[in-house]
Amino acid sequence: MEKKMRAQSAHCLVLPYTTQGHINPMLQFSKRLQHKQIKVTLAITRFIFKTTMHQLSSSVAVETISDGYDEGGRAQAESREAYLARFQQVGEQTLADLVEKLRDTGHPVDCIVYDSFLPWALDVAKRLGLVGAVFFTQSCAVDNIYYHVYNQLLKLPVTGPKVLVPGLPLLEPSDLPSFVYDLGSYPPLYRMVVNQFSNIDKADWVLCNTFYELEQEVVDWMAKLWRLRTIGPTLPSIYLDNRLQDDKAYDLNLFKPNTDGCIQWLDEKPDGSVVYVSFGSLAELGIEQMEELAWGLRASNKYFLWVVRASEEAKLPKDFVEETSRKGLVVSWCPQLEVLAHKAIGCFVTHCGWNSTLEALSFGVPMVAMPQWSDQSTNAKYVADVWGMGLKAKLNEKGIVRGSEVEDCIREVIEGEGGEEIRRNAVKWRELAKEAVDGGSSDRNIGMFVAELVNS
Ligand code: UDP
Repeated sequence: MEKKMRAQSAHCLVLPYTTQGHINPMLQFSKRLQHKQIKVTLAITRFIFKTTMHQLSSSVAVETISDGYDEGGRAQAESREAYLARFQQVGEQTLADLVEKLRDTGHPVDCIVYDSFLPWALDVAKRLGLVGAVFFTQSCAVDNIYYHVYNQLLKLPVTGPKVLVPGLPLLEPSDLPSFVYDLGSYPPLYRMVVNQFSNIDKADWVLCNTFYELEQEVVDWMAKLWRLRTIGPTLPSIYLDNRLQDDKAYDLNLFKPNTDGCIQWLDEKPDGSVVYVSFGSLAELGIEQMEELAWGLRASNKYFLWVVRASEEAKLPKDFVEETSRKGLVVSWCPQLEVLAHKAIGCFVTHCGWNSTLEALSFGVPMVAMPQWSDQSTNAKYVADVWGMGLKAKLNEKGIVRGSEVEDCIREVIEGEGGEEIRRNAVKWRELAKEAVDGGSSDRNIGMFVAELVNS
């Protein structure tokens, strides 16, 4: 009893970066902390708060800071560079103000868990005498590549047919994150991912949304540098261990789910017969790639559920939706977890964003990887060659995945002989993901983090 009371007095302020793929895992981690009797406050921007509060159903307390764009969010910024600079400037001040405000409520903050994309938050934490825990929302393999770039242990531009990064398999240059192998493609984002390591040595904890069994070698290597703990996958509890009451969904949607009867539509389809296609919240496909993908889906003759965000819709071939309506359903955003968990789903054609990858893995859904940018190429390499739970679609000389390749990969993964092992591995990873969270490695790591917070 005494321990519990002390535990409840520890208070974490959790600060995610402002995109869906960062808010989801950090809000989910918050719920896990809360379940272990830690008080948690999630800090989101005023703009996100304003636009999502009507549907915010989470049990985690929410407060706001400012990124300097309270009226229009990121879209208002003239460039990404400008957005990040302003976020830091205004964010530092408003984060410190929030800590101050919470002190006055009688529940002072003990620790800031901040997104690795916002390293300035650690400076705020240290200035205020708080524990600082950095939270990485990408894979440890990817994090380790950026670490090597930051410290110039990996010299750029990469030359040679193979790249060696400790803890990772031999990589081709194109398996590296796009900001690294395609140097100069997005300078502000390149600086952001590399600068995740600018002050990491001052962090008290390094938390990663992955699980030990999935990335053992690289985790072991990185854990020699910092107090690194793997705490994922951060899917809602209902899908993993079912120990957290009411943790059934991600709770904070930046996009309006257009469910359009997705689930009813899936209910009518045979088990394992549907191809689910999604490229996450940010990736933009070229028109030609979109056409090839559409062509490939149609040629596969499988049922498909395709998420095409409103901003991408104009790229769909004319009349495609009507012409394929017997086989396919195109929606602008869907409840991805419910979809991937559905027994009608047979394969996932994906950009291999890290959350989507962990989700597919946790549901045992085999993947066809079509990485677009950022860390997706590295995730796709692991999916295909390390975890053996999917195929990486091959690019033609113009860097495009042809429709016929999409079709071949889908067939192979769903029903091909070579796909058998992929389907078996998918089930194996599903079990290991569940174990990690259900009293296994990730659960123990969260317990360790909590215990130290409480006892310090
Ligand atoms: N997602 C969703 N509905 C969709 C598409 C995606 O809920 O129609 C969610 C998905 O479950 C995942 C997140 O959005 O949690 C996307 O994150 P990911 O890291 O895969 O990709 P990003 O959007 O960051 O590129």
